Amino acid sequence: MLDINREFRVPSIRTELPGPKARRMIERDERVTSPSYTRVYPLVVARGEGATIEDVDGNLFLDFNAGIAVCSTGHCHPRVVAAIHRQSSQLLHMSGTDFYYPAQFELAEKLTQITPGKFAKRVFFSNSGTEAVEAAFKLARYHSKRQNVIAFYGAFHGRTMGAVSLTASKVTQRRGFGPLVPGVIHVPYADCRGGSHKPAVSTIELIEKTLFKKEVAPDEVAAIFVEPIQGEGGYLVPPPEFHRELRALCDRHGILLVVDEIQSGMGRTGKMCAIEHWGVEPDIICLAKGIASGLPLGAIVAREELMDWPPGAHASTFGGNPVACAAALETIALIEEGLMANAKTQGDFLMSELAKLKSTHPQIGDVRGKGLMIGFDIVAADGSPAPDEAERLVQKSFLKGLLLLRCGESAIRLCPSLVVTREHCETALAIMSDCLAEMAGGPAGRAKGPVSGAKA
Ligand code: PLP
Repeated sequence: MLDINREFRVPSIRTELPGPKARRMIERDERVTSPSYTRVYPLVVARGEGATIEDVDGNLFLDFNAGIAVCSTGHCHPRVVAAIHRQSSQLLHMSGTDFYYPAQFELAEKLTQITPGKFAKRVFFSNSGTEAVEAAFKLARYHSKRQNVIAFYGAFHGRTMGAVSLTASKVTQRRGFGPLVPGVIHVPYADCRGGSHKPAVSTIELIEKTLFKKEVAPDEVAAIFVEPIQGEGGYLVPPPEFHRELRALCDRHGILLVVDEIQSGMGRTGKMCAIEHWGVEPDIICLAKGIASGLPLGAIVAREELMDWPPGAHASTFGGNPVACAAALETIALIEEGLMANAKTQGDFLMSELAKLKSTHPQIGDVRGKGLMIGFDIVAADGSPAPDEAERLVQKSFLKGLLLLRCGESAIRLCPSLVVTREHCETALAIMSDCLAEMAGGPAGRAKGPVSGAKA
């Protein structure tokens, strides 16, 4: 394979965007694919390597979203690709629910070792994040014999019926699909943007003193589902005491703490699981996204005694597929060998440089995050959220060859692969700085926006 990083400077935009081939392909795609997909900009990808994406017209982009936080080891890491080749030449599928094969139990063993908590654990495999959440939801109800679960406003846990019932990020994700799964109660997430936001009543107090007294008895609550850092909801880092207090609340009432690490896990924040930043040991951990560098795989890791469901109670034909498991084992090896440390190093650098950028670009509001899970708000002159400006920044950056994504109301999320270098980070910062300066220059600096294909 051509080493695009070495031979060309990235980004390198040689055609108008979208280029002629991309334009034709987008037209074909849009005739036959579901309109529910939210294409952000008209990017048609031919291939990827490391942190670089090449589109079908030969344009090179610097990827700061890594397939929405999935390609943890970068695009097509040679060791992951080799592991996939090895496994796929031996066994593609056998259904781990009915038969045994080494890749599945080897990965299960590994996951029990690298997740927080020095107690016996068991693993259930799925194909995606939403299915992992679904499995956790079912297991929590099955084990506890309780029906209700608590989740948070702003949470994104997936889109299948159970998971979307826990999701409360954007109303579009729920509208028209009801009735959803009953027994889900939402409460506010503990937001501490800028360290200044102090709600009158803390989330924990609200649950303990209002919810449990007026709406639902705690002994009828099976689980609390929480993202250690809210992803889609805005890359929100809760106050330092939040997760520990949540753990204590669960312990007081025999409620299971289910941590959704689907976006924040697998080394992204500089720890294998983000919840480790707060020293909390969950009862069930949901994993997906970064686990297999792009192959479809999800998992829940639960305390051994919780997984007391009998044969046939829950299973998935493809979950824990041997090729995906082989990719995951190699991905974890790479994360442990150095990528997790790199996530911390590059993340710290990005955070400190963004803080500097904030002083020269008033459109930047709160900057927050851990490792390579970083969010910053785009705000108006009065400090209020400026979603249109956030969108302009994403579109302008795309036209200059930097791939960004939004989250929350008006935040930009930076979730590059864990292989990004200091140079990649400097390039991304320079492009964002240029775009913000042009935006401040008024309409003359306005991006044309995507020519076709984008619906955002
Ligand atoms: N949970 C979190 C925290 C996520 O970020 C996502 C996806 O963005 C999901 C669950 C759902 O994962 P999937 O899209 O693989 O079903």
